[in-house]
Amino acid sequence: MNQYLPSPAPHHLGDSKIALSPIAWGMWRFVGDDVDAAEKLVNGALEAGITLFDTADIYGFNGNDGFGDSETLLGKVFARDASLRDRMFLASKGGIMPPIPYDSSADYLAKAMDASLTRMGVEQMDLWQIHRPDILTHPQELARTLENAHKAGKFLNLGVSNMTQAQIEALNHFLTIPIATTQPEFSPLRIDIAENGELDQAMRLGMKIMAWSPLGGGRIADPQNDREKAVVAVLDRVANEQGVSRTSAAYSWIMAHPARIIPIIGSQRVERIAEAMESLNVKWTRNDWYDVLVAARGVALP
Ligand code: NAP
Repeated sequence: MNQYLPSPAPHHLGDSKIALSPIAWGMWRFVGDDVDAAEKLVNGALEAGITLFDTADIYGFNGNDGFGDSETLLGKVFARDASLRDRMFLASKGGIMPPIPYDSSADYLAKAMDASLTRMGVEQMDLWQIHRPDILTHPQELARTLENAHKAGKFLNLGVSNMTQAQIEALNHFLTIPIATTQPEFSPLRIDIAENGELDQAMRLGMKIMAWSPLGGGRIADPQNDREKAVVAVLDRVANEQGVSRTSAAYSWIMAHPARIIPIIGSQRVERIAEAMESLNVKWTRNDWYDVLVAARGVALP
């Protein structure tokens, strides 16, 4: 019987000293003033074996204010224990001018990257990602902006997020540095990229894929409609057979894809972050993996 396993051993990206863990921890929901709690979370994620930490300048923004707050909170944690920064592969993003629209102009991005570095109190990010594509910036201008920032040492690796294949292709055409990562939404509830060519493009260009909202923003724990319940029923079957939680089954389903996708888990509870590591032991048969896909499609395969 064929078995499809979650991502194997961690690997390095570019020149980074820290290897990427097969699971990342996301800081979209990392907010508030409690630095003790924040420090416990960061330590908890590191102790669980996570090295890839994903934040963004807009995390913390509540629609009115809070822009930069998540990076600022992380900066306060680093100020308490500077050694933490050296143990992680630190990823951030920019390019959303709050509340919207998007801005990838040279001026805006240069200032945004400097502001991220200042808030976190770090000299360099291991990965910097364009958060959302800006239709009003020519990809050639964007490529020059990103190369200049890379040359200036603001980040080691470049990533994109939420870009279409054509946008990635156009940017890649003008760039002289590689696009190391792409960050689309992907989960057993959000499967578009498995069939629309995005994952194939990432594999062709050698981009590492970081999947955002791997639990559909929590809906896998609390399915709302018939389609979501059908997906969860298959995840539960596999989870029960292998003695893991439903959420671990979901993470492992993502990781079993041949692109070796890295789910960015969003939980802000240390015990749930630690539990996610059991997903590395889940084995998928071809039939079970496709059963999840078909339940998510809502229609049989052709
Ligand atoms: P998620 O893992 O799909 O959802 C996490 C949410 O589910 C949390 O609120 C968590 O609550 C809840 N949850 C409920 N039951 C859970 C259980 N049993 N186990 C784990 N979590 C459970 O991820 P997400 O937070 O939506 O997104 C993850 C990361 O993706 C973000 O932090 C960010 O880094 C990235 N992201 C990127 C983009 C982009 O545009 N690039 C957009 C969105 C997100 P508790 O905290 O109480 O556990």
